[in-house]
Amino acid sequence: MSANTIRKAKKLVESGGVVEIEEDLFQIKSLSDPEKSYFVTSDTCECPGFKNFYKFHHGKGLKANCSHLEAIRIFKNNDQS
Ligand SMILES: [Zn+2]
Repeated sequence: MSANTIRKAKKLVESGGVVEIEEDLFQIKSLSDPEKSYFVTSDTCECPGFKNFYKFHHGKGLKANCSHLEAIRIFKNNDQS
């Protein structure tokens, strides 16, 4: 995962862009468009980056990632501390 993805994810969490709606369902603001937000669970995301990942890496057995999924990971870690 790129450092850029992690940096974006941290920014999302720090700016309060991550909202837990229910167990394992989050609403996360888009960094590129403040009017937009995505519904994200711990392993799926609605954003174009996540969908494109499977388009470009189809069948390679890789798990898609995006700044939103990473933001959830950081958000959950913050919760526990
Ligand atoms: Zn995403």
